[in-house]
Amino acid sequence: MSKFWSPIVSRLTPYTPGEQPKLSKLVKLNTNENPYGPSPLALAAIAAEADDSLRLYPDPEAAALKGALAEQNAKHGITTAHVFVGNGSDEVLAHAFQALLQHEEAILFPDISYSFYPTYCGLYQVAHRTVPLAADFTVRVDDYLNTAAGGIIFPNPNAPTGCLLPLSEVERLVAGQPDCVVIVDEAYVDFGGDSAIPLVARYPNLLVVQTFSKSRSLAGLRVGFAIGHPDLITALERVKNSFNSYPLDRMAIAGATASIKDQTHFDRTRLAVMASREQMVAGLAALGFEVLPSAANFVFARHPRHDAAKLAATLRGDGIIVRHFSSARIAQFLRITVGTDDACQALLDALQLHLKTLPADF
Ligand SMILES: *Cc1c(COP(=O)(O)O)cnc(C)c1O
Repeated sequence: MSKFWSPIVSRLTPYTPGEQPKLSKLVKLNTNENPYGPSPLALAAIAAEADDSLRLYPDPEAAALKGALAEQNAKHGITTAHVFVGNGSDEVLAHAFQALLQHEEAILFPDISYSFYPTYCGLYQVAHRTVPLAADFTVRVDDYLNTAAGGIIFPNPNAPTGCLLPLSEVERLVAGQPDCVVIVDEAYVDFGGDSAIPLVARYPNLLVVQTFSKSRSLAGLRVGFAIGHPDLITALERVKNSFNSYPLDRMAIAGATASIKDQTHFDRTRLAVMASREQMVAGLAALGFEVLPSAANFVFARHPRHDAAKLAATLRGDGIIVRHFSSARIAQFLRITVGTDDACQALLDALQLHLKTLPADF
């Protein structure tokens, strides 16, 4: 705290990202990165951009990337006017909070969801109300209907639970709240969910946000995007052009565009992650864990007899990092990223050993 800080900065609660350890030998299963590398076509396109042209500003519109995303979704009536791109989907979400969710009425999101949402509410002074998930950690659409809302946002699949809301339920929510913007944060949808992008043409209040960080293995490049009615996109562009005209650098535009065009690599790696997820779920269940059904590249699991924080600390001692959140309803869960099969096996082996020797907590 300092007298030089503005009142809003004094009151902020910044988001805490998962640890990015400096040691490289660790088995890193804490931030939902993809264990497989990006498309070789993306790497080649990034390398090709590293030349004299870097003295010039990038395309402020990132037209090549918007064109590739529009083309990929053309069958759903998507044009470049329906596409917004930003420096990671976190930036896209931040702009959306300011451009589309900052109204008199409080916005709604689940009590357990992406912990960046309350942070953006603090930054942009957006009033919010959390809606409890059902006891099985699923979103109950009825709880969001027939109630005043300045907007609605939720991840699908949800984070950190991994639970998927079926597309028919997403549509019921979007159709049932036609006077407020509904943002579906699809950071993990490529690992087993149905995207809401096909609904965009029919619902002018729907904004779908996705990222290149997870399924496209480009977390280090920082690229995310939104697809929605052109009026929503224009609002995002107005904020972006009042903040930073060049959020995507030349390498990011080239790499992300090439990645979109490599469907083979995309499908091979996401299917590998999904297969490993099923093995990890089976392995954890065999060790006595309760594992929530996951449609993401991570699982959310608790052990009936062992404290989650202690398990996370014990695994850390073995050089295996998983994520633990201390908020009340989920304090006994571990969020474990699906890694390579070797990384998943290392986790299961370590847990098996510790569950035999650690005294039970409950
Ligand atoms: C990872 C994640 C994001 C942010 O992704 P970036 O594009 O890397 O900023 C957004 N929402 C959810 C739910 C996530 O898990």
